Formats: sequence, structure tokens, C-alpha cells
Amino acid sequence: MTDLPAAPVPSSEPAPEAASGVDPAQVDPAQVETLREHVEAQFAALQADLESLVRIPGVSAAAFDQAHVAASAEAVAGLLRDAGLPDVRILRSDRPDGTPGAPAVVARRVAPAGAPTVLLYAHHDVQPPGDAAAWETDPFEPVQVGERLFGRGAADDKAGIMAHVGALRALAALGAESGDGLEVGVTVFVEGEEEAGSPSFGRFLTEHRELLGADVIVVADSTNWKVGVPALTTSLRGLVDGVVEVEALGHAVHSGMFGGPLLDANTLLARLVATLHDDAGDVAVEGLVAAPEPAVDYDEAAFRADSSVLDGVELAGTGSIAGRLWARAALSVIGIDATSVAHASNTIAPRAAAKLSLRLPPGQDPQAAEDALRAHLEARAPFGARVTWRPGEQGKAFHASGDTAAMRAARAAFSAAWGTEPVDVGVGGSIPFIADLLEQFPDAAILVTGVEDPDSRAHGANESVHLGELRKVVLAEALLLRQVAAAV
Ligand SMILES: [Zn+2]
Repeated sequence: MTDLPAAPVPSSEPAPEAASGVDPAQVDPAQVETLREHVEAQFAALQADLESLVRIPGVSAAAFDQAHVAASAEAVAGLLRDAGLPDVRILRSDRPDGTPGAPAVVARRVAPAGAPTVLLYAHHDVQPPGDAAAWETDPFEPVQVGERLFGRGAADDKAGIMAHVGALRALAALGAESGDGLEVGVTVFVEGEEEAGSPSFGRFLTEHRELLGADVIVVADSTNWKVGVPALTTSLRGLVDGVVEVEALGHAVHSGMFGGPLLDANTLLARLVATLHDDAGDVAVEGLVAAPEPAVDYDEAAFRADSSVLDGVELAGTGSIAGRLWARAALSVIGIDATSVAHASNTIAPRAAAKLSLRLPPGQDPQAAEDALRAHLEARAPFGARVTWRPGEQGKAFHASGDTAAMRAARAAFSAAWGTEPVDVGVGGSIPFIADLLEQFPDAAILVTGVEDPDSRAHGANESVHLGELRKVVLAEALLLRQVAAAV
């Protein structure tokens, strides 16, 4: 996820009834136990490989050394080759600005005749570590504490890579034992710039369409409901961002000589930003749509604990917490260019700017949302100041129908691996490339599965993956690959 995923926080009431269509009979219990034994027998080696990956500081943000991103691509290619995929390539496509995109790994095993192909997605690049002082361990030296493995990318998304590798290893062991392990075609696609917004993905998809075509696409880059309860992510928000600039004077002037009749740009910007939310804290931009209220909800206390909101600080907005996170727009000021306190002087600032990030629920067209935001800003130019909007990124929201054959196969596999049914959840964050994939492969069933849990702290300090959950993720994926052969 290119941004802080709002990990779902379990409500105190029991997990809601999963949607109909789970047919536990689809999964052979004996096979579940056989595969679980293989996963267990192979787990120490899998964890060691995850730790090696975490030691590679492959941060895709431009300010970081991209040699590490290249190194993590090589490492991933090696893991997939060893997992038995005969055709492994490291490929790049150019970004819209003409610069080369980050290295992506594509590893394939062509489908047996008549069998479906499954695309397994993950990303090997990671977020910057941020403030090292906020970490209890070195971000790039993995440390296990109890059931959790700490390190940058341990959850987001190197655990996703290892879910794919682990499933292939377990099925290879099953195949060696019983002659029928993996019965579908598999393409593992591990990109290297997801945390930088996947700028070259669109072109990569077009240039390598024949390599990535699939009937089912599994995106292992989301979150589970809680430790012990899996989730299928059936909606992701989209995104529009950009910079609004407020200009009031040709140059800075003395605040004593001119203050009073003139408002400074910092004040004017603050007034404009204040119009973006109403008194209840809901987004006040006209013309935005909302998606239906989710069936599940967040427990406020748990949400407060996970978000670290301070005691006494009120939550903004109306309606359920899950609804505010998954089904409605949210607007954040993610950067401000204004006179800093350290550089303050007795002058009236001529201009100031803010970067705005608008989350979009399923059903909201990004361009329409951007037009509504621009119209809102231009219509509320404070004191007639010049307001300029510079558009940035756009990403479409995603919504998966809950009742496809692939979804039923996934439910059966997850129920068998965890011993409890998965919950359908939304996520407030985005996975930008899913919209591109849907455009290229409109008939493919997309399953967004989780490797994180509410305490994974992806993008934050002290990121970690729960190793007990990772075992189940690996088993569930191996079972899913078996189920898909029957379901599609
Ligand atoms: Zn991610």
C-alpha cells in the first residue's frame, strides 16, 4: 500500500457471519492437515528467507539509494527460481517522465492444458524507515519478539512475497509426495515501486500483457481482521491529490507597516483549508459520492488505540467508523509550504501552499472528485486571494463482488487454514495498480488478501508481522491454489 493503510480494528462483538457461498466440503480436511504439516516443516527456512529480505533496505522513494531496490529484486528472483518456477525475469518499463521504472520480478509456470492461471502479486520495495529514534530495533535488522518479527517491510510487503514462495514450496512438497501439488498456471509478479505509487505500472502492463494475463489475481498486500480472524479485502479507496497555492502579495512586506488591512498568505491558506470540513468534521466538498455502509464496524476504543489518537481528542465525522474509513471520502492536508516558526520574521507572507490528499470511496470517479475539489477551492478564495490548484496523482477505488467462484474458493481456503470464516472488509488505503489490472484484465477475479494485522504498523515505526498468522496465510494460499483449479 502506498499509504498508511487504516488497518481494520476488531469490534468487541463476534465476527459477523461471512457471506453465503462458503462450502467447506470443497476443502479436503486431510489435505489441509498434510499441507499444514509441510508449511510447518518448511517454516524455519521461510522465516530465515524473510529475514534476509528485510535486511535489504529497498526503499523506492527517489531520495534513497536505488541499488538496494535492485538487490531486493535479485533476491526475490532467486527465491522464486528455487521455489520451482522455470521462467524468472527481472523487467523494467519507463515511467511517464521517461526515467526507468524500478525492477519488477515476473516468474512463471505455464498452466497445464485447460487449467486456469493465477497471478500472485506482491511488492519488494518498502517505505522509508522514518525517524530511527522511534524504532525499538534497527529497521533493517529483523528481530523476533514473541510471535512477531519486527523490521521495515516485514509485513508490508515482504510477508506477501513469502506467502507466495511458501505456498509454492508447500505444494511442491505435496506434489513430490502425492504427485499432484500445483495444478494451475502460476505467474508471480513482484513489483519494486508500489510505495512510490507504481508510476511505470501502466506501461509495464501494456508491454508485458502476455506475461501477466490470468483468470484469478491474488494481491497479497492487505490486512486481516485480527490475529486469528482472516479477512478478504473487498473494497479499497481511490485517491486524488494535488497542491493548492494561495497568493495575496507580489512580495513580502513589513507586518508593522502593512499589517491590519492585509492578511498574510498563511492566514488566508488556513481559512481556505478550514472550509474543507464541516463542523462535524465531515468532508464539505460538494458533489462527492458515498458507498453503502459496511456490514462490519470498528470498535472506537480499538480504533483509538491503533491510531494513537490522544485522549480527549474527538474523532471527526458522522456515521460508523468503518463507514468513514471505507465508504466515504476523507481529506487530509499532508504537507504545507508556509513560513516556518524557525524562520519567522516580522513580515506578511505573500504566498503559502498545501498538499491535499483526498480519499475516494468505491463508486467515485477520480476526475469528477478532482473537479469538485478544485471548484470548491476556487469558489472560496479567501478575501479574493489568487488560488491555484496543481493536480497530482489519481487512483481509482476498487470493489470486489463478494460472490464469485474465486471468492468462494478463497473463503473455503481461508476458513480451513484459520478454522474460522474470513470477514469481508474494506480498507481506507489504496493499491494504485489494481485499477490498471482491472482495465487490462476485466474478466479476471481479483482477490485482495492480507498478511498484516491491526498491530503490523505498516509505514510506521516498529513495523512487524505476526509469524503465527504468516503460517496460516501460507497455508491458505496453498489451499486457494488447489481450490482455484476446481472453482474456475
Ligand atoms: Zn504494501
